Amino acid sequence: MNIYNQSAEVTSYLKQLRAEGRQYGFVPTMGALHRGHLSLIDRAKKENDLVVCSIFVNPAQFNDPKDFDLYPKTIETDISQLENAGCEVLFYPDTSQIYPAGSASGERYDIGRLEFILEGKYRPGHFQGVCKVMRRLMNIIQPDRLYLGQKDFQQCLVIQKLLSLMHLKARIVTCPTLREADGLAMSSRNTRLTAEQREKAPGIFKALCYIRDHVRRGTLNQVKEDAVEILLRHGFSVDYVEISSTKEFSPMQEWDGRIEIIALIAARMGEVRLIDNMVLQPHVAPKEAI
Ligand code: AMP
Repeated sequence: MNIYNQSAEVTSYLKQLRAEGRQYGFVPTMGALHRGHLSLIDRAKKENDLVVCSIFVNPAQFNDPKDFDLYPKTIETDISQLENAGCEVLFYPDTSQIYPAGSASGERYDIGRLEFILEGKYRPGHFQGVCKVMRRLMNIIQPDRLYLGQKDFQQCLVIQKLLSLMHLKARIVTCPTLREADGLAMSSRNTRLTAEQREKAPGIFKALCYIRDHVRRGTLNQVKEDAVEILLRHGFSVDYVEISSTKEFSPMQEWDGRIEIIALIAARMGEVRLIDNMVLQPHVAPKEAI
């Protein structure tokens, strides 16, 4: 695997590959890699001539400085995992490569209401930070395809919007969420849970499954309230439990039983904030209920 720390060097290396007619997929990450990340690398390997991964903990997207300081850093095991996965190129810059003028100030992106709902509401400034880093990374890497995880569903929509604002043609490939055996979505943040918290953390998945199994046409309030109860019972404090259409992505109070919807949860276990979601096809509800 070729490892680059300098933006100009990775750009010129990739330009050379492009000139030889090779296509490449890009998997941006913040490191502390787990099998969820590696599933994105696998998918990108299948669909491209080679794969570029980046590891950069982006200060601009952390609304909570403590969360940034505590973000796990495991670069040595990350590198060996990427090598085992067959990743060809790693871009591992320091902050000055991405933000020569600092990460605090800069441009604003008009991403509409995505900026203010759900994750945007609970993490002010987060998606502007995501746009800042992704614009820079896309300019540096210029991939044919961009691999993102459905676990960060709203982030996928934000990045899709960013690419259209930038008039970029790279295709986004959204990959399914990998889970532990007990249903907990894999996340770099899981390593910060104590043993006791880790045991209770699959409560998020249980709440999502509850919604999947009990959602009915009509008002959604009761099923959301029940899911909140499940989370509280597992020791979470709840930021939100919401149900949105996958297309419009605005939180819904009622469902017609026909359109595809997604249940989304953000909740805190102690100091660790976890998010997860589940797409619910209309056919999951029993026929007589629709
Ligand atoms: P992160 O390092 O958390 O910024 O994640 C990098 C990429 O991996 C993002 O596109 C995430 O959505 C994706 N990702 C994170 N966790 C998972 C998971 N459990 N399964 C699949 N993809 C994931």
